[in-house]
Amino acid sequence: MGRMIGIDLGTTNSCVAVMEGGEPTVIVSSDGSRTTPSVVAFTQSGERLVGQAAKRQAVTNHERTVSSIKREMGSDYRVKIDNKSYTPQEISAMILQKLKSDAESYLGEKVTDAVITVPAYFTDAQRQATKDAGRIAGLNVERIINEPTAAALAYGIDKQEPQKIMVYDLGGGTFDVSILEINKEVIEVLSTAGNNRLGGDDFDQCLVDHLVRQFKNETKIDLTRESVAMQRVREAAEKAKIELSGLTQTTVSLPFLTADRTGPRHMEITVTRAQFDEMTRHLVEATMGPVRQAMSDAGLSSGQLSKVLLVGGSTRIPAVQEAVRRFTGKEPFKGINPDECVALGAAIQGGVMGGQVNSILLLDVTPLSLGVETMGNIFSKIIDRNTTIPAELSQIYTTASPFQSTVEINVLQGERAMASQNRSLGKFRLSGIKRGFRGQPQIEVTFAIDVSGIVNVTAKDLGTGKAANITISGSSNMSDEDIQRAIRDAEQYAQEDAARKREAEAKNKCEMLIYQTETAQKKLSREDRERIRPYLDRAKKALKSKNLNEIADAADALENIISTIGVSFDPSAPSDDGTDGADDAQFTPKN
Ligand code: AMP
Repeated sequence: MGRMIGIDLGTTNSCVAVMEGGEPTVIVSSDGSRTTPSVVAFTQSGERLVGQAAKRQAVTNHERTVSSIKREMGSDYRVKIDNKSYTPQEISAMILQKLKSDAESYLGEKVTDAVITVPAYFTDAQRQATKDAGRIAGLNVERIINEPTAAALAYGIDKQEPQKIMVYDLGGGTFDVSILEINKEVIEVLSTAGNNRLGGDDFDQCLVDHLVRQFKNETKIDLTRESVAMQRVREAAEKAKIELSGLTQTTVSLPFLTADRTGPRHMEITVTRAQFDEMTRHLVEATMGPVRQAMSDAGLSSGQLSKVLLVGGSTRIPAVQEAVRRFTGKEPFKGINPDECVALGAAIQGGVMGGQVNSILLLDVTPLSLGVETMGNIFSKIIDRNTTIPAELSQIYTTASPFQSTVEINVLQGERAMASQNRSLGKFRLSGIKRGFRGQPQIEVTFAIDVSGIVNVTAKDLGTGKAANITISGSSNMSDEDIQRAIRDAEQYAQEDAARKREAEAKNKCEMLIYQTETAQKKLSREDRERIRPYLDRAKKALKSKNLNEIADAADALENIISTIGVSFDPSAPSDDGTDGADDAQFTPKN
């Protein structure tokens, strides 16, 4: 097993970390930042952009830009661009591929194994979809862990005091809260609750609505019909929100936002923190329901908490911190960077599995109850919510009609009493049951949940020993065939990407050599200029031909002749590595 990376695959931003010298370390991306926007874009020319590059062009290409895909994980949602349709897993795989390749450049070795985090409240389908995304990206997902558990790992390592802590995680698109118990080497999740459709994006939306309303009052222009303008407002709203975490007021300035008969119209609106708090009060309050639920599920009163950890970028909002402080009576702990601690924790878990870190045992819980449908549409629970995983539990059932030889097992997840009100994860049949009177046969149904929260259900007729089973994987909405096709597409894309890079590099090199040679020619004798000319002409022709081999050969030939002659390049001429060219002045003039 190579080095295992830890990935926080976030709604808004993602982060990757690895154990280095016994410490979890964030891997800096190819564009120099510690987190990567979870954004994918398809340019008009068919190029695929991921991360910062995709986010930067979102304003001008928003119809071909995909963000917050995590919200759709495990659903039937499809992204349709250029007559091609992508599952949320495939889009997520593109983000994972970028993180993988950043990690490979950083470590200088191939990376295949990863631990990926998911919100504690993610259902089985969403976990499975995350695992599939990893597979598509060429990653062997060794473990899926809950984000709050990862955060606690980042915090809990080396902490010996037994304690119960709350992890309040408000990211870009999801919210969850967990109560954990840390006791020596064991971190156990006691309860989790949350809302996987609540996050920083909603805070942005409140500001966007406010700005659009204000603008309409002032100008009578309805911006909601202008998609490019709206995208600019959305970006400015997020920026203003972030500024309001540090300032008591900020001004949203968007020159030339739109135009009407009177000419160009600009947006210039000042928002105070008090106004922002007022318009987002309901969102902050909406996080308190799950907080109360998690506390009561763990059987705790707020006084029994030792610490409160804040995770996710949105916990930097002062009103959020104040609400948590008010509820728990504790000053939230800010010792770890909320944007990075989840990935750091995932890296620690990777270290535990790879043997670089020991003495931490991770216990997690299933976030929702699991069971089967029984007669009369009744949900029969087999594994209760908040059961520590891995877990295996069985229950005996019998037939509903006389001489019934087949039963259909409908695997359900949820908390409602009626089967139809819960989510069906999949169905399978057990046939060949020993015929008998109603209620005679004994059918044992066993639920096994592995460490990643993936469910396997077996039904066995104790009379005949016949068994049937199902691993809940179809719930990710991608068949194995679909996944294999997506893996091939992703690999092909990686190859195409590498080829495109080689082509761009060869072209760059050739263009630079032409430019530098032409600039340096003035200093050469006529005879040398004549010697160089055919090589220069060949390089220029090759560039026009767009043939990669020709370009590379012509560039090499040109490079050879200039080094034979000993041309000195002008230090102010740009070099192909983007520096000022001074480092390339390694040739000395012949005379
Ligand atoms: P995460 O998913 O944890 O990366 O969180 C991303 C969310 O945090 C986005 O909605 C960001 O706008 C938000 N965010 C980041 N920094 C701040 C800040 N200083 N104040 C308020 N929100 C922030």
